[in-house]
Parts: sequence; C-alpha cells; structure tokens
Amino acid sequence: MFTLITGRWVSELIYIAAKLDLADRLKHGPRTAEELATSAGVQAPTLYRVLRALASFGVFAETKGRRFKLTPLAATLQKGVSGSMHAAALMLAEKYLQDAWAELLHGLKTNEIPFFKAHGVSMFEYLEKHPEDLKVFGESMTSVSAMENTAIAAAYKFSGIPNLVDVGGGNGSLLATIVKANPKMRGVLFDQPSVIARAMQHHYVTARGIAERCTLESGDFFEAVPKGADAYMMKRTLHDWDDEHCAKILANCRAAMGEKGKVLVVDAVIAPGNAADRGKLLDIQMFIIGGRERTKEEFAKVFRSAGLKLTRVVPTKCPLRIVEGVRA
Ligand code: SAH
Repeated sequence: MFTLITGRWVSELIYIAAKLDLADRLKHGPRTAEELATSAGVQAPTLYRVLRALASFGVFAETKGRRFKLTPLAATLQKGVSGSMHAAALMLAEKYLQDAWAELLHGLKTNEIPFFKAHGVSMFEYLEKHPEDLKVFGESMTSVSAMENTAIAAAYKFSGIPNLVDVGGGNGSLLATIVKANPKMRGVLFDQPSVIARAMQHHYVTARGIAERCTLESGDFFEAVPKGADAYMMKRTLHDWDDEHCAKILANCRAAMGEKGKVLVVDAVIAPGNAADRGKLLDIQMFIIGGRERTKEEFAKVFRSAGLKLTRVVPTKCPLRIVEGVRA
C-alpha cells in the first residue's frame, strides 16, 4: 500500500528525469551526477539523490565511480526513440494537469469537470492557447500511437474502405500507417486548425508514396466533419468527451457519410470484472478532463443516440479495440 500511496512521488521523479533530458544525456555511456548536473544546470548533490531513488525502481542504475547508466526503463525516456515515453512523462505530470487532478474530490462531489474548475476552460481550449503544452501533448499522443498504429492497421480489413477520414486524427501517424498499407485508399486527416498546421510539419501524411492520396482538413467536429467518405475513424478521441458530446460527433459523422458508411471508434473497451486494465485508470484521467472510457454496452448506447448501430468490437494486438458502427 505504501508503494501505491507514494506512486505520485515516483512519477514526479520520472517527470524531472524527462524535463532534464537525463536519458538523452546518458546515450553515449555512464556519467556521474556531477557531470549530469553541470550539463543540465541543476545541483549535483540533489540530482544524485534523485537518480538513486529512480534507480531503486529500475529507472537508471548506479555503476562504479558513482556513475549512472541507462536501463531498459530509463532508455524509454530518450527523445525520438521508438516507443519513447519522454513526452508522456512530461505531459501527464505537467502542472496544468496536476492542478486539474487536485480538483478530483470537487468533481466527485459536484460532477463538475475538474479541468474546468482548475482552468475555466476545457482541456482542448486550454491547449489551443498554450502552444508549448500543445506541442508536448501532440508528441505524447504520437509516441503512444507509434506502438499502436501497426496493431490497429493489421486488425481490421481497411482494404474495403476507399475513403477514410481520421476524425481528431492528431499528427496523422495512424492514418499514414493505414494509407501506406492500403495502396488504393485515400485518407483525410481532420483536426483543429493548430493541430493540422503542426501535422503538416510532422510529414506523416505528407510522406512520399502517400502524400498524393492524403488531404488535411481543419475544422470543429461539433460543427461538421468532411463529407462523403466510406468510414470515419476516431482514435482516443471519443474518450475525451461525455455521452452528449460523443453523440454530437458521431451524428456529424453519420450525416457526412455515404449510405453504407461506417464509424470506427478506436478506444479502450472496458470489460466487466476486476482484471487489471490500464483503461480503468485512464478513465479517471478522462473524468478529470470531462470524458470517460466505455464498456461495449456504453458504446452501443451512445451509438444509438446518434442514430447508429454497433455492429462489432474488433480486438487488436494493442490495448485498444475497434468499435464498428453503421446507420441504425
Ligand atoms: N487520434 C489521435 C489524437 C487523439 S487526441 C491519436 O490517437 O493520437 C484527440 C484529438 O481530438 C486531438 O488531436 C484534438 O486536437 C482533437 N480535437 C479536440 N476537439 C476537437 C474539435 N472540436 N474538432 C476537431 N478536433 C478536435
């Protein structure tokens, strides 16, 4: 129980390691706390204590001469490596999110959205006004996505979809993976203007071989989504919203899609029982920002309120599932 209670301290230390780029500074071999402190611009004696505490959890390891080296866990805190957790370590512990977590009890008592109580705006409105946080948020989603994209692309028969819109598609790495794997498919990346502007710089959907089959469109999915596609995919997007908002997004997809159109919601699907499931904890983070993770029955209910019918839930080799829906 004490380990669980102090879990917050550990994530705070991991945040510091990410903030000071400690893993990147150890890329070329072990270094002392003094060397690391000089290059990171912090106090060496305290940095030694931070590293020693982290090493007790397998994040970095102390070797001879009081030098610290990377371990497999610490290596994930490097920037730009496959499966990098650097941006996630920053984003999930940033002060603006911690301030929102501090309102969890208030949220439980009043059902007010904790993020709203802390900042007076929704998380996405907040990010639009804080470009540095938006950048880290985008990087965090992209690095988590990198581990999921191939699993999602392989799990579903995307070849039967000539035109696919990724609604709230972020940087476009998932759409790029799917379009690349399906040579006849055309894709549309749809998101908020600032995200689309950034997606152009990321070059996922503008990469050679797929650029001519991909377009980028910006807008507000509560207003409308691009018209006439065969399927509308939403990954880690509906979980940001309550049922009412999700129904609106889905109804806009329904209105935009062709007669035989489909919606493909890619999210955690919570199973009954006590089994460990990362989605159950992420669900609380979603409560903090006004969203939720859903069970199959809960998805079926939001689908119904948008005039859609849940047809099946397709498992993938990652923790997410594909929830398919058609016109009811
Ligand atoms: N699908 C991506 C990103 C998920 S985060 C991935 O899995 O990595 C949710 C996305 O919804 C963000 O990119 C955010 O910018 C977008 N979004 C939030 N509100 C929006 C709105 N009103 N209209 C369009 N996109 C929106």
